[in-house]
Amino acid sequence: MTKGQGAYDLICIGGGSGGIATARRAAAHGARCAVIESDRLGGTCVNVGCVPKKVMWQAAHAAEVMERAGDYGFSGVSPRLDWGALVSARDAYIRRLNGIYERNLDKSEVDFISGYARFVDAHTVAVDGQHYQAERFVIATGGVPGRPGIPGGDLGIDSDGFFAMPDRPEKVAVVGAGYIAVELAGVLHQLGSDVSLVVRRERPLRSFDEAIQEAYVHSTTQHGPTLVNHFTPSGLEAAWGGYTLHAEDGRTLEGLDQVIWAVGRLANTDELGLEAAGVRTGDGGIIPVDPWQATNQPHIFALGDVTDNPYPLTPVAIAAGRRLADRVWGGHAERRLDYRDVPTVVFTHPPIGMVGMTEAEAREQHGDQVRIYQAGFVPMDFALAPAEAKQRSTMKLVCVGAEERVVGIHLFGVGSDEMLQGFAVALRMGATKADLDDTVAIHPTAAEELVTMT
Ligand code: FAD
Ligand code: NDP
Repeated sequence: MTKGQGAYDLICIGGGSGGIATARRAAAHGARCAVIESDRLGGTCVNVGCVPKKVMWQAAHAAEVMERAGDYGFSGVSPRLDWGALVSARDAYIRRLNGIYERNLDKSEVDFISGYARFVDAHTVAVDGQHYQAERFVIATGGVPGRPGIPGGDLGIDSDGFFAMPDRPEKVAVVGAGYIAVELAGVLHQLGSDVSLVVRRERPLRSFDEAIQEAYVHSTTQHGPTLVNHFTPSGLEAAWGGYTLHAEDGRTLEGLDQVIWAVGRLANTDELGLEAAGVRTGDGGIIPVDPWQATNQPHIFALGDVTDNPYPLTPVAIAAGRRLADRVWGGHAERRLDYRDVPTVVFTHPPIGMVGMTEAEAREQHGDQVRIYQAGFVPMDFALAPAEAKQRSTMKLVCVGAEERVVGIHLFGVGSDEMLQGFAVALRMGATKADLDDTVAIHPTAAEELVTMT
């Protein structure tokens, strides 16, 4: 069938994680679907998010491992990074993924419409002057990086700009306190830049469990970027010898080659014509949805980063979309995403992992029914390292009630990224502390600490 002839069952606006997953699953259930994408297929995650970030993290991790080679008797390991070679290999990999995404749409018999979509009315969108109609729509237009509205704000770059950098900056300030700030600061530090991680409050990652915040700050102070706290940027100026970042209290950071803003992301809804479709938005253009992903217009759904979703993560957008498709076209009447106990990892050096409640959240809900188990140790990765190079790991279990059900798992340390997924399954299945204790440990690993805590 030719694109645009007749109405579709579903049009997904946005060919990122959520839009593609929804359309392919709906098509598998027999729906006639199209995905409209104005940029490269794969969205933020593939092009300027998870994927290029993880490649950079892998490079930084390789540098870390090479640093430790001498501990094991190797000599002559003195690597020099060719930033350009790394970036071009990374970008070639992403181009391959873009092609795979397009072929997958084709295989799933989902039409791909290239261009920017705007609602004309509640059942019609226009792309480059052509109108397309559908019985249902999914808005999955994601987000874009935000910047502080201060003088000179446009002199810095954001995370999209980070991935476009042709060279590694020698001296850089990364401003922000969330996932993106700590990840980019960590990568650049590990790859040899002089990095200041600039936070406006006491410390970064304030939404994480306090033990993890403390472990991150402690480790960063010893092995990571320079942490500059209580620094609220008030302006950025280009001066002879580099950029100068000014703080409200008069402090400055000078001689910077680059300033990277990582101060949060904004919903991508400005130009979508939502008024024409009668779709309501909330603060910052975010689209509020009900537990079934429906907007105030019952045939228009929204999911992923464009919504008030508490976890703007790729697997969350995908899971919400697939469940929506299963429900609407697959006959699974009750299927929807349960947003509780979503596991998440921050790719710092070493990484952070968490699932479930923080201790503070658990205490608020369960008071003195909460029992905490915590372990701090130097993993064997650093067994032969000199004292000053040893990095500590922290693990924490938040348990509730007489049966000590595990409601929160918080990890900081080498391997946390790969360790968490399986433990997240256990937590979702209602594992108790006794279940963990009854599981025979795998030795010698860092993960065994999770089943041997007292
Ligand atoms: P997106 O993937 O952003 O897709 C939206 C798409 O819609 C875009 O391609 C856009 O071009 C298109 N679009 C917008 N408006 C229109 C329009 N009107 N017409 C047509 N097309 C339109 N998540 C993780 O789980 N793990 C990670 O490690 C991770 N790392 C990240 C690192 C960075 C630097 C960033 C920025 C994000 C990271 N994320 C990570 C978050 C993850 O990328 C997002 O949660 C995910 O991409 C959201 O998917 P989405 O479908 O909601 O939107
Ligand atoms: P976040 O919302 O995580 O963090 C942004 C933080 O920056 C704020 O919480 C705030 O912290 C600080 N901030 C806000 N405004 C300013 C300002 N004007 N000056 C200085 N600091 C400011 O946003 P990110 O952009 O880092 O990430 C967006 C989302 O993308 C994440 O929530 C995550 O879901 C996803 N992501 C996931 C990754 C992963 O899975 N590994 C990696 C990267 C992104 P405070 O109030 O403490 O100052």
